[in-house]
Amino acid sequence: MPATRKRTALSKELQVRVFRRDRWMCRWCGRPVVFPPAMRMLDRLVRLSGYDGALAYHDPRWRRDRAPLLDHLGAVVDHHEAFARGGAHDESNFVTSCNKCNARKNSSAVAEFTEKSPLRLVKGKYGEPTDWDGFSTVFVVLARTNEDDLTDGERGWLDALGRDDPRARLRRRIARDTDGQLRLVAPERRALVELIGTMLPSPVSGTTTLIGGDPGEVVVVVGEDVTEVMQFEVEWVSEHEPATFGTLVAAFKPDAEPAPIAAAIAQARARRVSTYRWCPTCRSVQPPEWMMDEQCMSCFERAGGVF
Ligand SMILES: [Zn+2]
Ligand SMILES: [Zn+2]
Repeated sequence: MPATRKRTALSKELQVRVFRRDRWMCRWCGRPVVFPPAMRMLDRLVRLSGYDGALAYHDPRWRRDRAPLLDHLGAVVDHHEAFARGGAHDESNFVTSCNKCNARKNSSAVAEFTEKSPLRLVKGKYGEPTDWDGFSTVFVVLARTNEDDLTDGERGWLDALGRDDPRARLRRRIARDTDGQLRLVAPERRALVELIGTMLPSPVSGTTTLIGGDPGEVVVVVGEDVTEVMQFEVEWVSEHEPATFGTLVAAFKPDAEPAPIAAAIAQARARRVSTYRWCPTCRSVQPPEWMMDEQCMSCFERAGGVF
């Protein structure tokens, strides 16, 4: 485990800010770093699929024999000017480091270390990567599909990586649930479902996956640990099969106040409605999934268009 971790308790938000600022590249050797919780997620994903053999993806102590990628490239926040030599303990003095450089650097002075470290010469012929993310997006994608199984630490990372970050603002397919199963839901969650039902544009359908509006405008998934407010979207998964998708606008803990949830619903609704288009032929306003070649599908079909 890196020494800096024992000395300080840097918040996950701060660590994420430093990693992102440095584009997930080691400031000492220029190598891309790897976000350790993502390796744990990958390990879990492979095991969930039924594989039960050995895997050297993740080890809590980043042991080389059990997790060679983390042993070398595990992402660490390091002091630029060593703490032991009076370097400030604040963001301007923090840099992204790979585990190897962090271990090698120890408390030697920056100039001394840079001189000793020939790896600084890693340079790309076409420039440096700007879109590397340390597999943090992999983490977000996998974490969001298994939110019930997350540890507290992973939940913290998911929050720190930001649910409004464009990379984290995932669109996912929504499974519509049937109406009328609300009596099976625990009372507190049921009360939240009922409250949210009053905030949504009518008609409201669903039990804990609530869809407001017809055509749908907002999706709210009231889970056990998180309530997610999403912009309703439709995509044609095949020529005649529309599927419902939701793009996350905001997520809330079960004990959240109603006002911010209502504000997020209004925002999700505004985003959805702003995608509606005007059909110049029949002069109606239609959601984008019903538009075809600048007119609505009815007019398109009437005009002899083949769909
Ligand atoms: Zn390095
Ligand atoms: Zn039309």
